[in-house]
Amino acid sequence: MTPQASSAPHRARLLVRGAVQGVGFRPFVYRLAREMSLAGFVQNTPAGVLIEVEGDAAAVALFQARLLAEKPMPALIHGCEVQVLQPSRATGFMIHSSLPGAAKSAGVQPDLALCPECRAELFDRSNRRYHYAFLNCTQCGPRYSVLLDLPYDRPNTTMREFTLCPRCQAEYDLPSDRRFHAQPNACPECGPALSGTSLSDAAWALSLGLIVALKGIGGFQLLADARDESAVARLRLRKHREAKPLALMLPSLDAARALCFVSEDEAALLESPAAPVVLLRPRPGNGIAPNVAGPSAYCGVMLPYSPLHHLLMSLYPFPIVATSGNRSEEPIATGNEEALERLGSIADCFVLHNRPIARPCDDSVARIIHGAPSLVRRARGYAPLPIAVEGPLSPVLATGGHLKNTVAIALERQVVLSQHIGDLESPEAREQFERTIHDLTRLYEFRPEAVACDLHPDYASTLWASRCGLPVVHVQHHEAHIAACAAENHVAGPYLGVAFDGAGLGRDSTIWGGEFFGVDGSSYSRIAHLRAFPLPGGEAAIREGWRAAAGVWFACGELAEVPSALLPVLTRRLNSPHTSSVGRLFDAVASILGLVSGNAFEGHAAMLLERCATACDTSSAYPLEDGDWRPMIGEIRNDLRRGVAHSLIAARFHNALAVWVGEMAHKTKLHQVVLSGGVFQNRYLTERVVALLESQGHVVFVHRQAPPNDGGLALGQAVIAGRR
Ligand code: ZN
Ligand code: ZN
Ligand code: FE
Repeated sequence: MTPQASSAPHRARLLVRGAVQGVGFRPFVYRLAREMSLAGFVQNTPAGVLIEVEGDAAAVALFQARLLAEKPMPALIHGCEVQVLQPSRATGFMIHSSLPGAAKSAGVQPDLALCPECRAELFDRSNRRYHYAFLNCTQCGPRYSVLLDLPYDRPNTTMREFTLCPRCQAEYDLPSDRRFHAQPNACPECGPALSGTSLSDAAWALSLGLIVALKGIGGFQLLADARDESAVARLRLRKHREAKPLALMLPSLDAARALCFVSEDEAALLESPAAPVVLLRPRPGNGIAPNVAGPSAYCGVMLPYSPLHHLLMSLYPFPIVATSGNRSEEPIATGNEEALERLGSIADCFVLHNRPIARPCDDSVARIIHGAPSLVRRARGYAPLPIAVEGPLSPVLATGGHLKNTVAIALERQVVLSQHIGDLESPEAREQFERTIHDLTRLYEFRPEAVACDLHPDYASTLWASRCGLPVVHVQHHEAHIAACAAENHVAGPYLGVAFDGAGLGRDSTIWGGEFFGVDGSSYSRIAHLRAFPLPGGEAAIREGWRAAAGVWFACGELAEVPSALLPVLTRRLNSPHTSSVGRLFDAVASILGLVSGNAFEGHAAMLLERCATACDTSSAYPLEDGDWRPMIGEIRNDLRRGVAHSLIAARFHNALAVWVGEMAHKTKLHQVVLSGGVFQNRYLTERVVALLESQGHVVFVHRQAPPNDGGLALGQAVIAGRR
């Protein structure tokens, strides 16, 4: 570049697409341009954030680089288109007011964990927000949980009840301030306040083994001292949550390192703005009551993410159980009155406040798989970030599955996937499901032309779809799983889809869940599957693994192993649908090993088997040629008789599945492999499958944005139906 060229004025137009609104992106652009003495403007438009900058060529180029490198941490940029314009010789840099329709496309930000600067203020005695439980800035604080309507402006949030005091208003109005246009901005003078049990009394209650209900960001949480086995047992009993693992909140990353093994990736995830519950390997003898993690080899840990949590943990710097404020699988409670009523029989005291929660949003759960985060439950901190997909998609509403339900809307080249709603077993959950559909369609002024749902006629989500009056597209469960993973990874061209799952209705009316698909465009051909076996009792078998074991023994011809009560059922094929589900095979093997008598929840047995396998590092595998598990079951029985360790048996079982996937990928000669389904929440299995496939030269795609379990189904349904 010649000196003349670099000093000649240069003007560029940048169109930034993604979730960049409500996180101080425009003020950041403004400050950066001013600092670099560039002229131009920034403006929200329906197509994205539009920036025009003018100055010498080198400065304009540097601006572009710094824009991406220094953007506010929560801003999620999907793309940035650059166009060169005629210089206008204008001076100064301005923030133009938003164009109509900009808010809809800019999307809604998720709730963000307290940022380091606000945290420093929280504990600074000289700061006017010292110990104020509701401080925030453009980099942090509630978003989705306070949003009532778009655009994201204070009168459209639950903060509209609080009038900014002059000092807060001045911060809000000053472009160079960290709180410029921070919609939930507040201080002790003008903002929300705590009520109910005080934080110091709550800390005292925890020390006595009592259960504290705390109104958090996306709903109530139930807290108990995690070192106190009887307190945890009481919480489980009152909440009707027998065995499912409970999440912990620990005061700091150092505390997490003291109690668990924490890799650099896991530390980064714990401290990320989403601040999810991260599944960590506990250190032996860490003092956490054994009934916290239950059957899992992992311990779900999160760090304090709201100022309220930071304050409580500063008063009570010990591990506490922090679980959703609900009874069993009901939706999380959000209102003060509602919580006092619904949680009155669970909690001993209530920490309340008067900032309304616009909608329930549970804590998210994530784990590191193969060096990157993978979500088990996608809610606070992630929802409703749009997932960029190849489009355009027609406007379709997807109603998801039955368990771990989420819903989705297709917005051209993005899919907005709702927060985790839960299992649609209870009337409360089904009500929440309908509320979430209305909420999303209203926020985005979305008018669906069709509704996508599962093939299963009895899912509450399917029944709703068939009643809603729109044309219905039924999407096969495992095709939806695979489509979801392929879509979020932008996989083009033919690929092998591997769906290892609990259960979903197949196209042949049997229960699928161990399927290989050859996928090309919109065509899915089921090219292989796990050898099917009968499942006496059908759906009941999901919670009773011994039924799956009985089906497996029956199919092996080992009638002596089948409980006598089930023999006539199996022989006469009464209510014994056939299944090719890998999840049910996990149940059967866990039951044969005597690890569990009944599944307290779906995935319970798989969790126990994974825990067993994790204790053993071996590459040896049982035979599982063409998905025929009969020889494997025979070998497992022999190993059990010979006294082989459960951990080795469990590891060989996992490895058998991995080797089978490797063989299938080799046979089909498909270069790209897409993995989905609830079984791939299993880290031991997933990492082995990925490593094996990569060693064979395949490119492997796993879920990073949507969960591999049924929480990701709505994304796949939206993509399949939206492309029709
Ligand atoms: Zn902040
Ligand atoms: Zn104020
Ligand atoms: Fe599924």
